[in-house]
Amino acid sequence: MEKRFDCDEVIQEFEGLTKDAKRVQTETLKTILKENCEAEYLKKWGLHGRTDPETYSSRVPLVTHKDLEPYIQKIADGAPYPVLTGNPITTITLSSGTTQGKPKFVPFNEKLTETTMQIYRTSFAFRNRAFPIKNGKSLSFIYGSKQFKTKGGLTAATATTNVYSSEQYKKTMKAMQTPSCSPDAVVFGTDFHQSLYCHLLCGLIFHEEIQVIFSTFAHSIVHSFRTFELVWEELCNDLRTGVLSTRITVPSVRTAMSKILKPNPELADKIHKKCSGLTEWYGLIPEIFPNTKYIYGIMTGSMEPYLKKLRHYAGGIQLQSADYGSSEGWIGVNINPTLPPEMATFTVLPNIGYFEFLPLSQGQTDFDSDSDSNSNFTSVEPKSVGLTDVKVGEEYEVVVTNFAGLYRYRLEDVVKVTGFHNSTPELKFVCRRNLMLTINIDKNTEKDLQSSVEAAAKLLTAEKLEVVDFTSHVDLLSEPGHYVIFWEVSGEASDELLKECCNRLDLSFVDAGYVSSRKTKAIGALELRVLSKGAFRKILDHYIEQGTVLNQFKTPRCVGAINHGVLQILCDNVVKSYMSTAFD
Ligand code: AMP
Repeated sequence: MEKRFDCDEVIQEFEGLTKDAKRVQTETLKTILKENCEAEYLKKWGLHGRTDPETYSSRVPLVTHKDLEPYIQKIADGAPYPVLTGNPITTITLSSGTTQGKPKFVPFNEKLTETTMQIYRTSFAFRNRAFPIKNGKSLSFIYGSKQFKTKGGLTAATATTNVYSSEQYKKTMKAMQTPSCSPDAVVFGTDFHQSLYCHLLCGLIFHEEIQVIFSTFAHSIVHSFRTFELVWEELCNDLRTGVLSTRITVPSVRTAMSKILKPNPELADKIHKKCSGLTEWYGLIPEIFPNTKYIYGIMTGSMEPYLKKLRHYAGGIQLQSADYGSSEGWIGVNINPTLPPEMATFTVLPNIGYFEFLPLSQGQTDFDSDSDSNSNFTSVEPKSVGLTDVKVGEEYEVVVTNFAGLYRYRLEDVVKVTGFHNSTPELKFVCRRNLMLTINIDKNTEKDLQSSVEAAAKLLTAEKLEVVDFTSHVDLLSEPGHYVIFWEVSGEASDELLKECCNRLDLSFVDAGYVSSRKTKAIGALELRVLSKGAFRKILDHYIEQGTVLNQFKTPRCVGAINHGVLQILCDNVVKSYMSTAFD
């Protein structure tokens, strides 16, 4: 029998853990180190059975993925002895690898699925208290990536694939009364475009039962409804005739869909009428899915630029920003579901890993000038602080020790402590640490870029246009080097307006190093390159070909020369370019 989901019980457990965060952290570290004491990697650092935080952080070094790569490779190649964990790793996660342009290998085990479920349950308990749902379905834009076997016979797939294919996930979703409206064959179909089309079709078939619209990241929700705008008439036709479009060719997907798609001209007419009555697709979601309680997915960090479009589709429906985690494991839950995504914070769960924080104000943890570098940190090891010792208002880089063989692993994410819930901190996501626009003394983060684009994009509203997506590049081939910003715009903007946007972009980077370098011409004029329609879809396809899964996709916000595949797509799709005259 399925255990009923008890929100109060889950919240009580959470309160208990967070009240005692320091002790829970010490216990968690002890469990991790004991379970894995036979691992080659841990033995190397001579802990000799000691599990206290002080010995641990003084003997085991801080690492990045690059440092652990040889160990992970050994595991992938089938090393017959414990390398990073006591129990053998049988599955590898492919992280999205947004910056480098190709996925990274990360060890995965059942413990990570368990912690994922704990995170899902906890945030759901808080969400459901504020917005209760009953016996509904979720239109979940989720996908399984291609799985393959490594040389040593381990299964490798993206983190979400590993989670979505687990029995635990299905049980949890059922207990939370939000099973996906699409059959498994659609989720795990081999072609993302076809799966997306079928997700939309399933959504329409079950439109009155849909209570939640979900994807891991907001980009994927926006991408799905942009696609809906293109295929809605074809979807209506399928509903009318009960015959699936010929664009669906994967046999397992056709078979699964044939079981739920029946001719329904009334439904087709209803959807057709609703779509035709919308203005610029505003309020599409409540119009088609009238019982939707909220839209759920990660909407913070690099997802913020999609909020405007998401709100457009959402009409007045509540947007709820999901939790904070990575392929390397989860970090915190959003327990304030009534706050808008811009204000979302993440409360760290102290039993899902051991967490340390590197203060950014320490100077020695400063950024390096090479945004392509993976280990762009100085040789002096910065001093970390423990979970309960962080200071409100300070910014830190997150360091994770998890149950799947990562020890003192720098996540390369910057967070700000906004407060405490009981004795565990609440974090605001700030930005990726190594995504930087920098030429000499200038330092612009992903967030700075985002703000500049937002300021300049406002000008486009004069011509009823918007930025579909954007990225950037530092051009060092020109003398002096300069920033290049790539935009895909929703329609044809006038030259005059785009010139103005280009100047506004340049002026909106307010970092003192940038402004003074621009004034002295140590940095050249900013360049705005406008891309042809669909350029970012090509970039998405490129990442998917490399093994990324659609629901985990994040547009790279700064494309370095190392990421030549993406740079090539960008350069091949430029239709117009403008040089800033803001500092002439
Ligand atoms: P992945 O490579 O797909 O595992 O993505 C993990 C990364 O996504 C994290 O290291 C963060 O940079 C970003 N991320 C995950 N959750 C959030 C969140 N709630 N807010 C902002 N960024 C996030």
